[in-house]
Amino acid sequence: MHSVENIRLKKIRYNLRTVLRLAFDEKLKSFNEEISKVQGIESLDYLEKEVALRKIFKRKEDLIIRKQRSPINCVVCGERMEDLFYISSNASWRCILCYRDWISESVHEKIIS
Ligand SMILES: [Zn+2]
Repeated sequence: MHSVENIRLKKIRYNLRTVLRLAFDEKLKSFNEEISKVQGIESLDYLEKEVALRKIFKRKEDLIIRKQRSPINCVVCGERMEDLFYISSNASWRCILCYRDWISESVHEKIIS
């Protein structure tokens, strides 16, 4: 794991992550608008709407999964400034605090089970 210590590099990384986060939010919003639009089309019958909606839901879900797998922010608390740690077992990125919580929960679960 490579840690970024330089404050200027951290700010650049933060800004890039923010741009990606905003692009994600914008795309998510457009999927939600698409869903509302399809639901409002009176010329489509129930089955046609279901087929159209499932396609949108699938694309929306793919976007969410891709974001979760990208180091844009901590998947738990949303942190963008600090280093993120990848957890391969659930394909997500976490900040050091949430990573430590996850480790201690995992150890706790192993002790109980
Ligand atoms: Zn976090």
